[in-house]
Amino acid sequence: MAPHATGTATPPHVPANNDVSKITVLTSSRAVVNERLTPATIVISTITGKITSVSESVLPSSDFPQGTPYTDYSPAVLLPGLVDAHVHLNEPGRTEWEGFWTGTKAAAFGGVTTVIDMPLNAIPPTTTVAGMKEKLAAAQGKCWVDVGFYGGIVPGNVSELKPLIHEGVRGFKGFLIDSGVEEFPAVSSQDIAKVFEELAEEPTTVMFHAEMIPPVTKSVGDDVQWSQPPLVPTGPLDTYQTFLDSRPSSFETYAILEILSLAHLAPKLPLHIVHLSAIEAIPMLRDARAKGVNVTAETCFHYLSLAAESIQTGDTRHKCCPPIRSQANQDGLWDEMYEEDSVIKTIVSDHSPCTPDLKLLPSHVPGNLEAKGKTASCGAQNGEGKGDFFSAWGGISSVGLGLSILWTEASRRELDPETTLVDLVRWCCVNTALQVGLEGSKGALKVGMDGDVAVFDPEAEFEVEPSKMLFRNKCSPYQGKVLKGVAKATWLRGRLVHERDGGFGAEAVPGGQLLLEPRKKVNAKVKA
Ligand SMILES: [Zn+2]
Repeated sequence: MAPHATGTATPPHVPANNDVSKITVLTSSRAVVNERLTPATIVISTITGKITSVSESVLPSSDFPQGTPYTDYSPAVLLPGLVDAHVHLNEPGRTEWEGFWTGTKAAAFGGVTTVIDMPLNAIPPTTTVAGMKEKLAAAQGKCWVDVGFYGGIVPGNVSELKPLIHEGVRGFKGFLIDSGVEEFPAVSSQDIAKVFEELAEEPTTVMFHAEMIPPVTKSVGDDVQWSQPPLVPTGPLDTYQTFLDSRPSSFETYAILEILSLAHLAPKLPLHIVHLSAIEAIPMLRDARAKGVNVTAETCFHYLSLAAESIQTGDTRHKCCPPIRSQANQDGLWDEMYEEDSVIKTIVSDHSPCTPDLKLLPSHVPGNLEAKGKTASCGAQNGEGKGDFFSAWGGISSVGLGLSILWTEASRRELDPETTLVDLVRWCCVNTALQVGLEGSKGALKVGMDGDVAVFDPEAEFEVEPSKMLFRNKCSPYQGKVLKGVAKATWLRGRLVHERDGGFGAEAVPGGQLLLEPRKKVNAKVKA
């Protein structure tokens, strides 16, 4: 349904007749404000980009000075722009995998107004101040939404961590298992202990890719008696179950126990488990929180919408680590989301693309290069290794699709739409902003916050095909799926960035900012 818009048809940031309005007004019969669905009128200063007033009613355009840009989006829903706190943009160094221009365009397309870039897969990684500066230089002028950055924790870089905080990193991430790229090695427990001591009083969050190969000796104590030894492939390499069996939930639970065993070294430091997949880890996180450990977890759109049972032979677009698990596991994650003080506070994309050749896709899977008459440049020649879940790059592309993925899944589960809209905002806006120290400017339609708005049409549907995947490589397990819910417009700091019907606009230029103001205080515990 088209909004009946008044005022200028050009984006409000484009001056019309040299008459630059100082405000822009967005209104709708439905908006998520103050944790509930309500009619609302949002006034945004075009000078500061901040929200200057929020009224819980649809104010008529006649309430504003003549010529004020005014858009009534009724009955679409005004949501805060999403904050995707886990995205790999890979630039510089692996820009053929993704880049600031394409990754942030894909974000804007889906109502995401802030992405936080992970410290690995670009070269250099963001593990030093020098590496961070190279990344910032690469990002200049290329961001369609606001972008923040994480720093990386690798063996031997403890002395870089405090300087990286001063450079404005939103948190840190380390791996307890091979990361997949040689320039970002895993840390040991000794390394983690040093990091915790270094950052114990710092205003930051330390996050972990929590997978670890459980020890195979019997000398590791009672805690891991239930852990199974790492499993070697026991079936065809192009069968998803073979891959899943090789990365059991004990990889996650063991890693989390290891992290929790060190948490006492930095009791005030917020800890965070990225991309939690295994429901078996939930009780131990719950226990830890009950004992006062400041630990939270995120899960991903794919763990909440895809299931191992449906993954076809050779369809490596589904490969990620930790893996997509069973339908029962997916159901368990959803159940946990609704628990009081859930350990899972946030939902993110973990958008982690690569070039299609590295996915080793068989010719019948969309996204395969040879299917388009091109030759794969590495790994997939002569049919060798095609569809091999073990050799394929692990990572799922979905930045900008998350809102629709979640809404589609919530509809399938027949969840209450009104409650779900409020929940979505908590998981993907409020809590993700809080996780990265941006709660003062992002994640809510509130006076003083940035005028970042996702205009969401819950009834519309679209098929995910290449023109709807604005990330660089059109290779995603969501391709071909029909998703419910469309981000019909995206506003960043009071500027119209993207319209589903009108695109980015011929005159539009990237207006995203780099979020480099250092975090000031240790987070309050993320609210449930
Ligand atoms: Zn990731």
